[in-house]
Amino acid sequence: MSLEPPPSVKYRLCLNENLFLPRELVAEVVREAAESVDPRLYHDAYGEELAERLAEFHRVDVEEIVIGPGADYLIYLLASYSRVGGAVIVEPTFEEYRRAVQLYGGRITTVLLDDDFRLKPERLKGAAASIAYLASPNNPTGNQFERGAVEDAIESFRGIVVVDEAYAEYARYSMLSEAIERDNLVVIRTFSKAWGLAGLRVGYLVTNRRLASELKARGRVFACSSLSLKAASLMLERWEAVRRAIEELKTVREWLRRELTKIGVKAYPSDANFLLVRLPVDSGEVCTKLLEKGIAVKNVSSLPLCDNCIRVTIPPKPIAEIFINALSSVLEQSAL
Ligand code: PMP
Repeated sequence: MSLEPPPSVKYRLCLNENLFLPRELVAEVVREAAESVDPRLYHDAYGEELAERLAEFHRVDVEEIVIGPGADYLIYLLASYSRVGGAVIVEPTFEEYRRAVQLYGGRITTVLLDDDFRLKPERLKGAAASIAYLASPNNPTGNQFERGAVEDAIESFRGIVVVDEAYAEYARYSMLSEAIERDNLVVIRTFSKAWGLAGLRVGYLVTNRRLASELKARGRVFACSSLSLKAASLMLERWEAVRRAIEELKTVREWLRRELTKIGVKAYPSDANFLLVRLPVDSGEVCTKLLEKGIAVKNVSSLPLCDNCIRVTIPPKPIAEIFINALSSVLEQSAL
């Protein structure tokens, strides 16, 4: 399985990276981090310094936070609960949940979203499993489930509910403050998306103290590098710049949706930094033709309910214009 776009790609619109935050700003943060850490030394085993900063940022307690090298690490860590009891996965969604559960040999119960990609909490009710994964906003559909539906799912499910909020900074609400109150809710966040540090690999989760300390005990010590932890702490101080980049993205997101509608394709509403687009022709062929023009998008057609769909990371306006022109000409050719 290839996760990386080929080197000839000029525009990477396939991995939902942050294309809005100025590269210089992130580079400056990393330089500052490099100057302040001593790479000869082990740092705090669980990333306590970053946890302290995050606790202040989110107004939760430091004991309610677990840090890890990316949200993926935390997804895999949580999958250890599926070994006994299995897992519920709501489809279509981020494929890593399934891979993580499979690694632990957990039984998987699949629950489908409805045709408009809405969460139907009653479909989770009868499911007996020790853990359920929900991405909110969901990947690849881009929508954030209705808060009431997520709350119903948490109340009716007896195991742990993982709400993966990798894209929450772009969305309408967060379940983060509820995670510390409830006994079965874990909220995952990451520095890879809105915070622009995908390459440095830092994520975290928020949950009640009991689960947080259990998860710390299950996880690895010294899992994140000192440089990454420090850079993440320093990024938190740049929230204003991050927030501006989020607002800019949202403006382009709505513009791009309208433009896509004008060229006759369906772009679903998005609460994230990408759009799900349904094409009137074979999405695999369109992806190949876009790639010939140097543009990589993700074909998600093989996922349930996603026939002929592509997922497109939202880029700054000039690149969004290049994308829309390229897609438009590929579609015109396909119609010939
Ligand atoms: N969760 C979701 C829903 C994602 O889309 C992604 C990345 N594509 C991740 C988690 C992984 O994030 P990280 O880079 O922090 O491992």
